[in-house]
Amino acid sequence: MKKPTHEERHRACGGKRRYRSQGDALDAALLAGVERQRSAYRCELCGQWHLTSKPVRRDPR
Ligand SMILES: [Zn+2]
Repeated sequence: MKKPTHEERHRACGGKRRYRSQGDALDAALLAGVERQRSAYRCELCGQWHLTSKPVRRDPR
C-alpha cells in the first residue's frame, strides 16, 4: 500500500477544519445549514473529525 503524499495528506486533513468530536462536527454543519449534505468522519491522520460532502441527490424542495 502506498503512503499518501504530503499533498494528499494536506488535502484529506490539513486543509480541512477539525472538530474534537463527531458532535462538534455535526453541530458546525447544522449551524451552517448544511447538515443534510455533510457527514462527519474520524480522520486517521489527526485523530479528529472532519466533515465530508455526502453525495445527495438534489431535492426539488
Ligand atoms: Zn485530519
